Amino acid sequence: MSAQTARIATVLAILLVATAPYYLAPFTITLFDYIGIYSLVALGLVLLTGVAGMVSFGQAAFMGVAAYATASATALMGVSPWLGLLFALVLTGLVAAILGAVTLRLHGHFLSLSTIAWGLAIYFTFGNFPGLGGFNGIPGVPPISIGSHALLASDEIYYLIWAILIVAMLLSHNLLNSRVGRAMRALRGGKAMVESLGVDAFRIKLVTFVVAALLAALAGWLYAHMSRFVSPTPFDATKGIEFLMMAMVGGSGYLLGAVVGAALITLLKNAVQDYLPLIAPTSAGQMEIVVFSLLFILFLQYAREGIVPFVAHRLPERRRKPPEPAEPLPRRTQPPAGETLLKAEGCVRRFGGLVAVNDVSFELKSGEILGLIGPNGAGKSTMFNLLTGALPATAGRITFAEKDITRAAQRTIAKAGIARTFQHVKLRPKMSLLDNVLLGTYTRTRAGFLAGALTLDREEERRARAEAQRQLERVGLGDKPYELAGNLPLGNQRILEIARALAADPVLLVLDEPAAGLRRPEKLALATLLRSLREEGLTILIVEHDMEFVMGLVDRIVVMEFGAKLTEGVPAVVRADPRVQEAYLGGVA
Ligand code: ADP
Ligand code: MG
Repeated sequence: MSAQTARIATVLAILLVATAPYYLAPFTITLFDYIGIYSLVALGLVLLTGVAGMVSFGQAAFMGVAAYATASATALMGVSPWLGLLFALVLTGLVAAILGAVTLRLHGHFLSLSTIAWGLAIYFTFGNFPGLGGFNGIPGVPPISIGSHALLASDEIYYLIWAILIVAMLLSHNLLNSRVGRAMRALRGGKAMVESLGVDAFRIKLVTFVVAALLAALAGWLYAHMSRFVSPTPFDATKGIEFLMMAMVGGSGYLLGAVVGAALITLLKNAVQDYLPLIAPTSAGQMEIVVFSLLFILFLQYAREGIVPFVAHRLPERRRKPPEPAEPLPRRTQPPAGETLLKAEGCVRRFGGLVAVNDVSFELKSGEILGLIGPNGAGKSTMFNLLTGALPATAGRITFAEKDITRAAQRTIAKAGIARTFQHVKLRPKMSLLDNVLLGTYTRTRAGFLAGALTLDREEERRARAEAQRQLERVGLGDKPYELAGNLPLGNQRILEIARALAADPVLLVLDEPAAGLRRPEKLALATLLRSLREEGLTILIVEHDMEFVMGLVDRIVVMEFGAKLTEGVPAVVRADPRVQEAYLGGVA
């Protein structure tokens, strides 16, 4: 599908939505009002769960916070619904920021479980907080007025709901294709990966969490003024589950999935409510839940990814031109060749009783390739983690470019100019080669959340994209920038990781076992690439088990065994050292 077809489809969809009240019955329009409102909540969940990987059952609670905020401001205190909106957004944003700050350091299931806990807590607060009308709720919520015109009829608020939804979708779309949005999409790659790119993972999580809550807040505001009444029931735990279901059924990785999921579940529910009483006249309400649970289990079995990706994968691919060259992003001043760049002094790392790195010291001069080798279990990866800040050292001192980085956070070290790759490749398989490499430019660009959503970042973005394309070309992957990273063979994934590291304009590139798992021609290609990088003046540290790979490539070698430094020197001397041969033979035996 070309960009033009996509644009035409978008315009057609907007026209269909805009004219719906002219050809649909009022009852159907009411249904569409609900679909629009639920789509907003589901949109937040697409960002939170589908994009950023945090499963939340608590979105209904945020919708409720906003609904109660605006209801109490308007029905009880008599202010206008527009002030109610402001109050609802501020209150929901605050509650989300506090809950997020407390819970977002939890991982995986624990985070999801916590959303159930606070979801329930908020629900019962609505029912028991003095002045909120208990479980009977707050009646008499006024309608939203535009000027002196009150949006009373279902086809009037319809336009407001869908206008808000469409704007929210467009802004989210912009956001996801911006610097902050890419960081959100990268979160699923794990903390080690995003922090190594200079991203503050917690902050990005918190931003995503609050944005998702604010989308739910918009929905809650619309809901309160449309139904003119709030009570705790529409914001209970089953609703929280239902919203998650909507996002998943639609396709939680896709913005459009929110609308498709909300529409499908709402229409299906409506149909079930119509037909179920014919089959089970006495217990239709409870049977509805049973029917939905069964449908959901079937869905999880057969179409887990959701409807939108299912359809999207069957459409012809969008053809796009590679990014145009542009003015380069600002570059670092590289240190003069031969200067001491990195210094490890007496580094120690213990794991309980095990000393994985035992009093290791070495130096790295700028412009050289240094190999850190040793048999399996020698402590190479641990040393690597100390250098990159992935693990704190138990003792010792690490200096980089005359700055002490011993206790520095990973992202601080990344910003200082050390770019790394991973022993087990950490890429985002569902992101394009270009987007993966763009992640590397994070520390060299500045556009924030709002700039991304409002497309104020386009000039910088153009330069960043040109830079990413240039790095792809530099490593020999420039011909298919929009291919998904997951489709590459392992050798090329390693090389893509190097391109991502290079996009950060590093002073030092550190590679953990880059040759592991590669076939011989892939190893040769990698060695050629690393040599050409050295010729361009880059300093490289390679941690490697494969002695042959290292020998022909590096300027100097440091050998580790049992956590300690065995020896160091130029490759020929190290290779001839009987202790090194014994360590390697011993390691194999
Ligand atoms: P290498 O990369 O040279 O193969 P590692 O640095 O991975 O070696 O491991 C060195 C030693 O430290 C091994 O004995 C390993 O089992 C141990 N080790 C590594 N990481 C941890 C950890 N997180 N917890 C406990 N022990 C670890
Ligand atoms: Mg290792």
